[in-house]
Amino acid sequence: MTPSDPLFCFPPSPRISLAVTGQDARFPVRAIYCVGRNYREHAREMGAPTDEAPCFFMKPAHALLADSSRIPYPPFTQDFQHEVELVVALGSGGRRIAPQEAVQAIFGYAIGLDLTRRDLQAQLKKRGQPWELSKSFTGSAACSALVPAGVGRFVDSPRTIRLVVNGTLRQEGRTDEMIWPIATLISELSRYEELAAGDLLFTGTPAGVGPLAAGDRGTAEVVGECHLDFEVVTGPA
Ligand code: MN
Repeated sequence: MTPSDPLFCFPPSPRISLAVTGQDARFPVRAIYCVGRNYREHAREMGAPTDEAPCFFMKPAHALLADSSRIPYPPFTQDFQHEVELVVALGSGGRRIAPQEAVQAIFGYAIGLDLTRRDLQAQLKKRGQPWELSKSFTGSAACSALVPAGVGRFVDSPRTIRLVVNGTLRQEGRTDEMIWPIATLISELSRYEELAAGDLLFTGTPAGVGPLAAGDRGTAEVVGECHLDFEVVTGPA
């Protein structure tokens, strides 16, 4: 801060953004929305019912590990888990977006990891408490560079998402196995919240979630389209 800068009490945090494949301009991130239990086999492995409406939650923008292949193992967990997910990035927004117009709002997509302190999440759920500290902590959202679709030109064709850790296939799913398809998710979410350019939506994980340990190396991918190579590193105690 300098006395000549009257706008802020101190310099604001840098804008969180994602790289965009094939272009220099970056995607400025606003909010990060996520949906839980969007694949039946995953709901089953969690012992959860298939919900009648999508279960949305959020992560703050600073949860994003942008441009980083290093995932810090967080404190307060003995069961730090991966959830590989297709991420859609919005280039426009609005309220009460009709399902048939929803994909028009998509700027591009990426592969992401919704990282979770599973043991803490179970404790919080049991106590009926908010689960932010298990799901929305700093470093809880890994994401590849965005593949631009061109606003209004996203094609919701079936894609295979996959996660390999230490050479072993951990998760694989097809996006047409989603309980709530992408257009439905955007439309439903926009009934609750006004969506905007810069929003990310983590669209849920297929079965096979499991633990990560410091030293693990892996690759998450939308097969044939984008990938994220990562390493889990010892984080702050
Ligand atoms: Mn998830």
